[in-house]
Amino acid sequence: MRSLQTQVEQRGARLFELVDKHPESLFSKASFYQRMMALSMRDERFKVQMFRFVDVLPSLRNSGEIVEHLEEYFTGMRDGFAPVIRTGVRMARIAPWISAFILRRNVSGMARQFIAGKNCENVMKTLRKRRAQKIGFTVDLLGEAVLSEKETDEYAARCLDLLKCLARETRGWTDPLRKNSELFPVVNLSVKISALYSQMNPADPSDAIAHLAPKLRPILHRARELGAFINFDMESYAHKNITLELFKTTFGEGEFKDWPHAGIVIQAYLRDAEADLRDLIEWGRARATRFTVRLVKGAYWDYETIKSKQNGWDCPVYFQKPESDMNFEELSCVLLENESTVTAAFGSHNVRSIAHAQAVADELGIDRSRFEFQLLYGMAGPIKRALVEMGYRVREYCPVGELLPGMSYLVRRLLENTSNEGFLRAKFSENVAAEELLRDPNELLKRDGEKQEPGSATPATIEHRHQENDPSLQASPGDIYENAPLVNFVYKESQEKMRNALREVRNRFGEKYPLVVGGEKIWTDKLTPSVNPAAPKEIVGYVPEAGIPEAERAVKAARAAFGKWSRTPFEERARLLDRAAAIMDRRRYELSAVEVFEVGKPWAEADGDIREAMDFCHFYAQRMRLIGRPRLTQRVPGEESYQHYLPRGVALVIAPWNFPIAILCGMVSAALVTGNTVIMKPSEQSIICGAMLMQIFEEAGVPPGVLNFISGHGSVIGAHLVDHKDVDLIAFTGSREVGLRIWKSAGKTLPGQRELKRVICEMGGKNPVIIDFDADLDEAIVDSIYSAFGYQGQKCSALSRLILLEENYDRVMERLLSAAASLRVGNPEVPGIMVGPVIDEAAYRRILDYIEIGKSEATLAYQAREIPPEGYFIPPTIFTDVKPNTRIAREEIFGPVLSILKVRDLDEALAVANGTDYALTAGFFSRSPANIDRAKAEIEAGNVYINRSCTGAIVGRHPFGGFKMSGGGTKAGGADYLLQFLLPRVVTENVTRHGFAPEETPEYRDEFVWPKPEPRKVGT
Ligand SMILES: Cc1cc2nc3c(=O)[nH]c(=O)nc-3n(C[C@H](O)[C@H](O)[C@H](O)COP(=O)(O)OP(=O)(O)OC[C@H]3O[C@@H](n4cnc5c(N)ncnc54)[C@H](O)[C@@H]3O)c2cc1C
Repeated sequence: MRSLQTQVEQRGARLFELVDKHPESLFSKASFYQRMMALSMRDERFKVQMFRFVDVLPSLRNSGEIVEHLEEYFTGMRDGFAPVIRTGVRMARIAPWISAFILRRNVSGMARQFIAGKNCENVMKTLRKRRAQKIGFTVDLLGEAVLSEKETDEYAARCLDLLKCLARETRGWTDPLRKNSELFPVVNLSVKISALYSQMNPADPSDAIAHLAPKLRPILHRARELGAFINFDMESYAHKNITLELFKTTFGEGEFKDWPHAGIVIQAYLRDAEADLRDLIEWGRARATRFTVRLVKGAYWDYETIKSKQNGWDCPVYFQKPESDMNFEELSCVLLENESTVTAAFGSHNVRSIAHAQAVADELGIDRSRFEFQLLYGMAGPIKRALVEMGYRVREYCPVGELLPGMSYLVRRLLENTSNEGFLRAKFSENVAAEELLRDPNELLKRDGEKQEPGSATPATIEHRHQENDPSLQASPGDIYENAPLVNFVYKESQEKMRNALREVRNRFGEKYPLVVGGEKIWTDKLTPSVNPAAPKEIVGYVPEAGIPEAERAVKAARAAFGKWSRTPFEERARLLDRAAAIMDRRRYELSAVEVFEVGKPWAEADGDIREAMDFCHFYAQRMRLIGRPRLTQRVPGEESYQHYLPRGVALVIAPWNFPIAILCGMVSAALVTGNTVIMKPSEQSIICGAMLMQIFEEAGVPPGVLNFISGHGSVIGAHLVDHKDVDLIAFTGSREVGLRIWKSAGKTLPGQRELKRVICEMGGKNPVIIDFDADLDEAIVDSIYSAFGYQGQKCSALSRLILLEENYDRVMERLLSAAASLRVGNPEVPGIMVGPVIDEAAYRRILDYIEIGKSEATLAYQAREIPPEGYFIPPTIFTDVKPNTRIAREEIFGPVLSILKVRDLDEALAVANGTDYALTAGFFSRSPANIDRAKAEIEAGNVYINRSCTGAIVGRHPFGGFKMSGGGTKAGGADYLLQFLLPRVVTENVTRHGFAPEETPEYRDEFVWPKPEPRKVGT
């Protein structure tokens, strides 16, 4: 190893020597770029604003908009460079056209630094120059995120055109090394796989491959005919397995099995990179035709760490930069050791990584012409020159395309160039010594292990930064809640578990589940079937129908159990919830599978529901631990006042079917942990989910009578219980009609009633999303489509009114309609389905009626044609020319029907958004800081989402619930939710005796809570 290190150092030193012969600053070209980058590296806040400004600029259409954005992004800046910015803004105000022109030119200049040309003809100038420098090329087509199959067709067509043009323009070009040239065709195209299928879903690789392969084959066919090379680029981790599988499938059979000019990327920052590489090599050996691997570190490090943190997933990337470097070196060895099967392409600008590959190749006696180094256009020019001078094969990765679609690529490059961790910044901007830059990453890891580098952006430090920014996180210990993770269906193992669970649950179809009252299993004469809305002939299971006698029995049981349960220490009650969550975790896939069948939830939505149920349990358990003990109200001498809480009594929980376990469990667990006893009535459409939840709480050890499960008609037992004198609290989530009835009837005080009834009432929404003129449409359209059609539009948070500004209208509509047309509608048993059936026949008929109303009130702009013939499937439907006062714009439809409202400007957009009876969720897409501020302040909704979908609230993170006719409760999953289930009580004692009072007053006193809680261990 030592000698290898010496070899690496020697080669590295030589490279540096050559690099330093033609010194070039990192940001050499345009002075504007140079200055911006220097400022960005000095100040993180400037960098964020700067990159955001660069991101929005190409979508701005006149100088007024540009100057406005410039002001909004930069005028608040205070630091050393404030004068530069202020002068710029002042100038811009005086002469907006000139300033906008200069800015655009400068940013275009910046983009041109990294984008080799607009189109093939344009890029040829660069490629010819490189040819003279003995540098080859691979061309990559920049594109917007593809949202529809129409857009994927366009991408595929552009690839074909590009191949044809490149082949024509490079006719007669020869290999610069004139050796082993058969391995390295001149024309080389890098393809983004995600651009070829808009509905790629990690849970369903076979569907993805079935759609991708036919799109890809004509490109491969043409490439083969033209003697070109095709490389599959690697994108985010969610697409990795599909990309690998597609590569092996496409090149493992048929006309391409013996074609050697195919390559794929391996990202060394991934923990599973080595397993993937070895698997590919094995596959290549069996295939018996060479292929190429481009080894890179990976371009999505920030994205992957943020995404996995948000979803509670294991992070797929290494946390420390030297770990990625070390893995790159290990994988370089694997590649070169298998040179007889695979051709290596090293994609790096890091001299240490490059020198290491050179040293290993030499050690193994591999000729320089049999592998290549690949570097990005516009970066590390001196290193490319040095490599050519040393006789290595060099290829430049040249992105081609327009500025707007190129923005995400440009921002990735800017981030890379300004990254604290990056090699380029260290070498070309900070002039770190060669010796330091050539250090063995192993050694650096050891050194960093001893002394953690202060600047290193490990997830731990990212989290720390968030904590600094978030005042709520400065709360008392135990106040920060960490959510349960989502299942990551990117893993085959998760997909397999879900498939097995679906099989097992299907095998149990038709089973009967009892009611449970006072700990006893109860059967009645009548069984209610629960049907699969995707195939209504299938009966998922049966539950007995409760009538008034069972309802009465449940009230009695709950009443009888209340005395003891209300005095059970809150810690014990909290532990019950924790145990229930643990059982849900164990039965997670099974519960998800039941939801798929009983309520038509797609896989990930069903899993999200179980995760939410677990979160409710843990979160409310944690909240109860925080508020359970009597706490001193104020510190005054001579008197002690302690506030504590008592449970209210018997709680009636009436839940909907759309989040059949989560919402039911949320209301039940809040009631239980606060010491109330519960009568739980799930929706008639999700009784099996209700029965499952009962099983879970029974297994967790809920005492008899504390939780009672009855099922039956809302209009019969629901109404009876709501009016019952012995029911003290009603927690309801459902329709406005029923909610208002409950609200009214609970207001009547009955003879013998002990408490004023408390109603916690969550109702519907008519949720708007506004897309501003400068919004990022790639995001706005994907998120709007998901918000409107995810789970068939049956979430109370779903988008139903999309508000578009006149100036943006055509651009948005064109992409929106084709995105809707690409949605996968079908049986949600199949992974990756986004739109399944609506809940039952009544809903089906009601929604179809609304569609008819829509046809008379507005213009039917889109309706899906292909839907399954059986089951309650409603085609995703979009209406345009919708006026705010029409029924489809005012009434809750609760199905996959989206109304589009066109408005003049933001004033009107906000007025339309707020102009309904509801205020549940709302969304706003914009890149104007001033407009975002306005939306934050003015949109009337319980949950306002900026630049993201308006569904998918997470417990603790997005406490959920609305106002106006959307609800009369406090936020579910929020810090104060439990208070609604409690009666506050204050005990005050005068502790002065003849002018003498104790000096110490404890913060908590447990004396008047019976029985006395055990001493607390944590979180007090
Ligand atoms: C020709 C070419 C093609 C490419 N194609 C792809 C592609 O298809 N897919 C793709 O994802 N990338 C691709 N890249 C980008 C590449 O992945 C790197 O982002 C980039 O080259 C920087 O790596 P480096 O070795 O040049 O620089 P270095 O400065 O040595 O490495 C920077 C890299 O280290 C990693 N890193 C940074 N911080 C940490 C940390 N805290 N912990 C762990 N790792 C960290 C990241 O991957 C980062 O990009 C390509 C690069 C080139 C040159």
